Amino acid sequence: RFAAYLVERDEQGHLRQGVRSLTPGDLPPGEVTIRVAYSGVNYKDGLASRPDGRVVRSYPMVPGIDLAGKVVESADPRFRPGDPVLVTGYELGVSHYGGYAEYARVPGDWVVPLPRGLDLREAMILGTAGFTAALALHRLEEHGLAPGRGPVLVTGASGGVGSVAVAILARRGYEVVASTGKPEAAPYLERLGASRVIPRDEVAVKGGKPLEKQQWVAAIDAVGGDTLAHVLRTTRYGGAVAAVGLTGGSHLHTTVFPFILRGVSLLGIDSVYCPMPLRMRIWQRLAGDLRPEALEDLVYREVELAGLPGAFDDVLAGRVRGRILVRLR
Ligand code: NAP
Repeated sequence: RFAAYLVERDEQGHLRQGVRSLTPGDLPPGEVTIRVAYSGVNYKDGLASRPDGRVVRSYPMVPGIDLAGKVVESADPRFRPGDPVLVTGYELGVSHYGGYAEYARVPGDWVVPLPRGLDLREAMILGTAGFTAALALHRLEEHGLAPGRGPVLVTGASGGVGSVAVAILARRGYEVVASTGKPEAAPYLERLGASRVIPRDEVAVKGGKPLEKQQWVAAIDAVGGDTLAHVLRTTRYGGAVAAVGLTGGSHLHTTVFPFILRGVSLLGIDSVYCPMPLRMRIWQRLAGDLRPEALEDLVYREVELAGLPGAFDDVLAGRVRGRILVRLR
């Protein structure tokens, strides 16, 4: 038997959750069985713990959209027992038992070999948040972004995606402006490599003129809503904005002017179904040219399964600075 964090729903729609004991027979079908070493807590994992979160598609569920560990059994010739691997996204922790358990079983097509240059713990310090930040930067660079052209804005900078975005942009030599709602996070963001930290009110601006002073050559936006609209109005001619998240709202009220008068591009970033060849390329970059200098600085807290409820509260309240790591015994 092994330990897992299980979320169950009763007929009234109330959730009951906690650490339970499962058997291998409880695991879903899949070619690869993994002894999980680490997982993480993303905003989406916080939502998975709430009855109105609209993330979990079937109950009972073991949440956890990320995991890293070693293969214990594989019917997929690409993987052998002992191989270090990671899985993020797809149906993991949503409609297929996820990372908050000592064992997981997944389709071979979801499995990424751990890239050389990262250990299992480091891979989960990054997790979906880090992967998404790197995918956003990769897409911006494909669009033509290069260091030395001007400031790049990161919104929701103290969160998981934001923190890694700041760190990898700095690692690549970009000038990074970090926007945060937490004034006390400024020294942390500067340590990660931000050249300048600005208050959230400067970017979370409702209304405004269709076009405003041109400031950023590019932006990685983890916030959405009024913030994303403001970022579009203030991005420089020819620049691009990577839309990643919705902690500030899922609406987008804008005009076409940033697009048709300034040639600004809006790039959509999806980590969940990112195709495998690109997925492997992004993980290789995270282990190589994008590897944050001080990965440990990104760890806000490390918890075991029993510490998950508190971690969910923190992530949903926007209190987290960096990443919460989950260690499986
Ligand atoms: P997180 O760690 O909770 O970070 C979110 C950050 O957003 C907070 O730390 C806070 O940073 C800021 N924030 C919180 N409430 C806000 C509000 N009301 N208005 C403005 N900013 C607010 O979450 P995460 O895991 O990094 O995820 C960030 C977002 O990206 C989420 O919406 C998540 O669903 C999304 N996401 C999308 C993908 C994808 O594939 N597209 C992948 C991963 C995550 P400051 O205090 O520094 O402002």
